[in-house]
Amino acid sequence: SVDVKLSNLLKIFPTHDGSEDFYAVNEIELDIKAGELVTLLGPSGCGKTTTLRMLAGFELPTSGSIHIGADNVTNVPPNKRNVAMVFQSYALFPHLSVFENIAYGLKINNVPKGEVIDRTFKVISLMHLEEFKDRLPSQLSGGQQQRVALARAIVTEPRVLLFDEPLSNLDAKLREYMRDELRKIQQRLGITSLYVTHDQTEAMAISDKVVIMNHGKIQQADNPIDIYTRPNNHFVAGFMGKANFLHGVVKDVKDKKAIINILGQTISVSVNDKVKLSENGPVDCVTRPEFWELSEEGKFNGEITRVIYLGNHVEYEVALGDETITMMDFEHYKHGIKQEGERIKLHLKEEC
Ligand code: ADP
Ligand code: MG
Repeated sequence: SVDVKLSNLLKIFPTHDGSEDFYAVNEIELDIKAGELVTLLGPSGCGKTTTLRMLAGFELPTSGSIHIGADNVTNVPPNKRNVAMVFQSYALFPHLSVFENIAYGLKINNVPKGEVIDRTFKVISLMHLEEFKDRLPSQLSGGQQQRVALARAIVTEPRVLLFDEPLSNLDAKLREYMRDELRKIQQRLGITSLYVTHDQTEAMAISDKVVIMNHGKIQQADNPIDIYTRPNNHFVAGFMGKANFLHGVVKDVKDKKAIINILGQTISVSVNDKVKLSENGPVDCVTRPEFWELSEEGKFNGEITRVIYLGNHVEYEVALGDETITMMDFEHYKHGIKQEGERIKLHLKEEC
């Protein structure tokens, strides 16, 4: 497989009402290593689809370049790039059978008939579509249609696979199942992939690298663990999972640790080395809801202001002095569920 490189990629859409041009993708740099799956994650309108469409060749960049392996494909037409795209809407041909839908890409590339049949059957079996091969798309469930769409994309053995929110039309259970299937197949085939979603759980579950975008710019590109535990900024911390932001004051910085005063208490926290801290300066401290626990020995005193029972855990909103945090309690089956208005003590398990 091959690597992909987006360099200084810019896409400006002109506006027709005379207002300023719109920077949909604003000078992004991105490397995808051979065989990796990289996910673009961000809110609606942040430029994910535009980035994907430029890599596919459906949209020409205003400036910057795109390399697939050693080839500069910046101005190469889509059908000459050897990339395949899977869409949210599946985009199957309604009048063709499953078999014909999958075989289509090979036929238009003049692959010999015998080989078309062999390769199509191989992918049909890989995707467990044997019993559906003669059906029309309208005779399939959403999940089955999405499997056909993926089969159609991989049958041509593309150098790069592109996914634009491919699971968004499926219900929650099926979405999780398909997500894992898709990742297994991508890893088995080792096809370099760029995946677009606005779903943070999906992104964490399947990605080698997650790229957080906002307003056309990359906020952070890292593996899921670093994104979650060492966010570069406020936006990343808040977008990837739930975050409590607490105002603190830095007391001391050593290596990757800092001593910080928050809520009248002193704590030791790990620090993202891209963030500059100065002694006695203010700091935004991120604590995840699962870092907090109810404990008689806890040094934080609070009052429960809201209780949400979620089965495997209880979510509490807790007022701590002037600030309010959200915490998760996974031990409610041992010590019961607290009530609104109860005074509690909290311990910070993982200090930021
Ligand atoms: P995302 O996929 O992250 O939701 P898009 O890449 O589709 O975002 O769009 C980014 C921004 O660019 C949006 O504000 C969108 O309205 C704008 N945009 C996308 N395509 C066009 C176009 N062809 N002309 C003008 N504006 C566009
Ligand atoms: Mg989009």
